[in-house]
Amino acid sequence: MATRCRPGETEEEARRRHAARQKLWRENNREKYLQGRRAWTEKNREHLSEYERLRSAKRRAESPEYRQNANVRAERWREKVGDEYLRQQNNERNQELKLEMFEAYGRKCACCGDTHFRFMTIHHVNGDGAVHRKTLGNPRQFTGRRFYKWLKDSGFPKDNFEMLCANCHLAKESGDGICPHQIERAQAASG
Ligand SMILES: [Zn+2]
Ligand SMILES: [Zn+2]
Repeated sequence: MATRCRPGETEEEARRRHAARQKLWRENNREKYLQGRRAWTEKNREHLSEYERLRSAKRRAESPEYRQNANVRAERWREKVGDEYLRQQNNERNQELKLEMFEAYGRKCACCGDTHFRFMTIHHVNGDGAVHRKTLGNPRQFTGRRFYKWLKDSGFPKDNFEMLCANCHLAKESGDGICPHQIERAQAASG
């Protein structure tokens, strides 16, 4: 867009004057400006994300500096939105994922029948959790959310996994895969 020059004004000066005027308007009409920008973004969402993806890929390919600065930009973004916001967003997503798992495994501990959502964990039935995690990548990274995500993507398999409350899980992990509840049940059945 060409900016009209005043007499005796260079094009650069005219451009700056115009930009300053726009900036002043944005400051005085903050709400209107944000509303307009949101509406525009909403309207152009699809094109925009595609455009941004392409632009970012192009820059990445062309500029090693851009690639290197990616971390700096990510850090800046984290600072801008705030740790608290990210933590909250993360927690909400984790919670959702865990709720899906809870539903998929029948809403109760496979051993004692406890139904407290917050007690629930996933147990590797054959006790090969560490081995399994290793086959799926860096074992230290493959915990919590990553593990739940993998379970979901695998359709919450039941053959080698069961949902247990923390008590039964701990008991099985530390007691050759047997929970005291099972022993009690066996005794009650035979006695
Ligand atoms: Zn239990
Ligand atoms: Zn148990």
